[in-house]
Amino acid sequence: MDDAGKLLLMAVHAHPDDETISMGGTLAHYAAANSATRGETTDVIVVTGTRGELGEIVIPERDTPDEHERLGETRMGEIAAAMRALGVARWENLGYRDSGMDGTDGNSDPRSFHHHINTNLDDTTEPLVRLIRATQPDVIATYDDFGGYGHPDHIAAAKIARRAWEVAGDPAWRPAAGPAWSPKKLYEVRIPDSQRDAVLALLESRGIESWWSEPKDVTAEELEKWRAWRAMMACPDELITTRINIKGQLGAKRRAIQAHATQIKPDGPLLLLSEEDQIALGAREQYRLLAHRLSSEPTLPEEDLFAGLR
Ligand SMILES: [Zn+2]
Repeated sequence: MDDAGKLLLMAVHAHPDDETISMGGTLAHYAAANSATRGETTDVIVVTGTRGELGEIVIPERDTPDEHERLGETRMGEIAAAMRALGVARWENLGYRDSGMDGTDGNSDPRSFHHHINTNLDDTTEPLVRLIRATQPDVIATYDDFGGYGHPDHIAAAKIARRAWEVAGDPAWRPAAGPAWSPKKLYEVRIPDSQRDAVLALLESRGIESWWSEPKDVTAEELEKWRAWRAMMACPDELITTRINIKGQLGAKRRAIQAHATQIKPDGPLLLLSEEDQIALGAREQYRLLAHRLSSEPTLPEEDLFAGLR
């Protein structure tokens, strides 16, 4: 619970836009301004490991060396606009450099999130522990071990969130990082196989290509590798413990996606599906409870990240 007496969700992410794409509806649902209108007292803090300096620029006329030079700054402006759209008042950046996609030069940059985490996990986790101890979140949500799709910064974010979950409440662990605080629930955001299949079927029925569409003109070996990668991006439905209904937040999530203008194409799959489509697909963001410190076993499945804490 934070100092205003609100139950607090901390979302731990890699780059500006990941928070919105993966859990924007959830963030809007629990943000203080929105929760107050329902007579609830919850709040959200978003933490991003990097500024996303090495992302693509999807607007062709802005895809220039100058724009890439200042992309970190641009994306911090975009996340600020996205947070306004979601009603989230608090977000922080840990200041690591974007590592780029797996196997690219950015991975070995000494400033990169990837390099830091491979050098010293605890040193890389400490800034997050400092934030946890200062803000006292009840719930932490991050990615699965594969970081959703294998990006080194997503994997790094998942690692520091797990390590912080273990150590933030230990008064002997780096006492200079603040007084110990133990969050009560740890989640990873997931896409169950059934949702992936439903979204893919709908997109394909309209002739829309997505990251889940099978690549053409590749060798059998490449196709097999791609299928294994796609399988890791979703999970068996039975792993899902928590489904958040985001029907009331679809508009806010769409505006937040649009705020990440350099990263997300207006004619890409994320924006081509209408609100009606999203509702037909269930309008849910889904999570797996990884660990908890509740006094009794939670009743699963649940529809609230704060279930057992209210
Ligand atoms: Zn990302």
